[in-house]
This record gives sequence, C-alpha cells and structure tokens, in this order.
Amino acid sequence: MRGEGIQIGRINGIPILLHPSWFLIFALIAFSFVSEFDALHLDIPVPQLWALGLLTSALFFGSLVFHEMSHSVIAKHYKIPVVSITLFVFGGVARIARDPARAIEEFNIAVAGPISSYLLAGGFWLVARQAGSNAILGALAGSLAWINFSLATFNLIPGFPLDGGRIFRAIVWGVTKDYGKSTRIAARGGQIVGYAMIAAGVATAMGNYAPLGGTISGIWLAFIGWFILNAARQSRAQSDARGALEGLRVADIMTPELPTIGREISLEDYARELMRTGRRAHLVVAHEQLVGLMTAEALHSVPQEDWDVTSVQAVMLPKDKLHWAAPEEPALSLLDRMRTIGMQQMPVIAGGSVVGIVTRDSILRVLQARQELSSFARQ
Ligand SMILES: [Zn+2]
Repeated sequence: MRGEGIQIGRINGIPILLHPSWFLIFALIAFSFVSEFDALHLDIPVPQLWALGLLTSALFFGSLVFHEMSHSVIAKHYKIPVVSITLFVFGGVARIARDPARAIEEFNIAVAGPISSYLLAGGFWLVARQAGSNAILGALAGSLAWINFSLATFNLIPGFPLDGGRIFRAIVWGVTKDYGKSTRIAARGGQIVGYAMIAAGVATAMGNYAPLGGTISGIWLAFIGWFILNAARQSRAQSDARGALEGLRVADIMTPELPTIGREISLEDYARELMRTGRRAHLVVAHEQLVGLMTAEALHSVPQEDWDVTSVQAVMLPKDKLHWAAPEEPALSLLDRMRTIGMQQMPVIAGGSVVGIVTRDSILRVLQARQELSSFARQ
C-alpha cells in the first residue's frame, strides 16, 4: 500500500485517494447492506432498496475517512505531515511522513481513530433511536451504528499495524524507552494476531455454520489476518534495518571522492559518462566552483531524443536547492531526511568543501552487509 489511487478530493489539505481495490469492497459492502435491509422487509421497491444500500455504504466509507482524519488531525498537531488518506480493500490508511518522536504522540495519534469511530457509532445509535416510525432511517442509522462500533472494537485488537497494536507499542515504548524494542515486540504481537485470524477464518470457512455467509466471512477474516501478518513482518524488518544503522554516522557510510563534470556538456555526453563509470551522481563545476549536482534521475527526466540539445546546466539540481549532510550526522537521521524530501543521493560537506556522497543504494548495501554479518554471528 503505497497510497496510489484516484484522488477524489482534499480535506484539510490532505488528498483523499481511492485505491483500485476499494471498488471491490465497496460493491461487496453495498451488496451486504442490500441483503441486510431486504431481510428487514422494509417494504420498498428493489431500486430504492439498492439506493439505500449504496447510500449506507457511502456513509460507511465517509465514516472511515472520518476515522483516518482524526488520526491525521492529531498527527498534524504534533507537526507530523500527513501525506494522504487512502481507502483500500481492507479499510483506510493515513500515511504520515515520519514516525512520531515520542511514545505519547504515537499513543494519542493511534487512540484518536477508535475514539472517533465510537463517537460516530453513538451518534448513529441516537439517530436510530429517534427514528421512530421511519423504518428506513432506523435501518440505515442502526446499521451504521453497529458497523462503526465493530470497526472501533476490531481496531483495538493489539496486533500491529492495527490501532490497538500501535497503542500497545506506544505503551511498551513509554515503559522501556526503547523504540526499536517496542516495535519488535508489537510486530511479534501482530504476527500472532495475524496467524490467529487466519486460523479462525479457515475454521469459520470450513465450519459451515451459516451456509454462504460463513464461508465468505471466514475467507475474509483469513485475508485480513494475512494482511496483518505481512504488515507486521515488514515493520519488524524495518526495525531490524534501523537497528543495523544505529551508532553509524554519515562519514561511515558515505562514498568518498565524487566525480565532477562540467555544466556545459550535453546530456548525451553525460549518459556516456554514466555508462562508462557506473556512477549515478556527479558534482557539477564551473571555474572550479561547485554549481550543482547532476544525477541519473535528472538525466531521465528529459526524453532521450532531446539529450543532444540539452545541457547538464539545464536539468541539474542547482547549488542553492541542494540539501547537504554533515559527516558527523547520524546515519539514521539522514535516511529519514532523504525519505521525507524524496532524495536519492546527498552530498556530504565539511569545512566548506564536498567530501563525499551518500546514496540510498549505498545505505542499503551497508544494511545488507551488516545484517548478513550479524546473522552469520548468530549461527
Ligand atoms: Zn485507525
């Protein structure tokens, strides 16, 4: 889930996206509302029954956006940028640009979601109670109260990356003061919850208590379990990777000496230089002064047929737009910085001159080497 999808709008500056897989779940949810309302014998024609089902589904997904918005509002309160809110087959996800800096921030961001869903459930429940003789309104509000209540409760299961798992991690983090350790423990919890859901899902699907519904909801539960299992594994791997970078500084992972090129050469010549040397970044100099950074990504931003008529100067990252790293900066904080601004390489500067470059590839190579070594050491 990388937040790709169709943007349907913005709320509070945050893009709201629909992942292609969302259409499947929307159709399924609408269908299940229709059959639920059909069983209530509301005495309305089939087209209206479907309209009611679609309206209820739309309000349900509105509730999901409300849930994700409440995570986002608290994140923004802590000055953590929110990249997007995406609805996909397993619900909603709010992508934030970086991890919270303190346990209490993580706790408040995570807990805001279930609280908002419980509030919505309470609101819809009140509407259902007031609906009186309006059976249609009663059915709609009653369903939404129940589904929001279930959503909040399900999300409180302490399996990372569910909200409950994040709350759990925040508590362990607050107690142990060790972010890496708390992530590993919470991810382990997520894996257990994932396996348990798959087992429960398979048992439900095979059990045949309710003919078709039993099978479908069993398969569904197993799928959600599988999703949680994967996400927990990923966060564990990420946390291990961060552990491997711990204690390293930029000077330890940078590539010293950086090749230079002139700003006046054409992109065609630059491409030849890239192929010849295999380096993906070059300092651009003019009169022995640094004027910018040229990279393979910048080269590929220009269509190949224009390479012979475009100079390096035209597409390079100019000096004043460059971000720099210092040799003594911790490697982890540099990695976060590069991720946030979306840079693949970063020159390292000391005493006014460039002493090397850090690329994301080189960080990954260091990580790999250290992880191989440490797994070797454990054997
Ligand atoms: Zn949530």
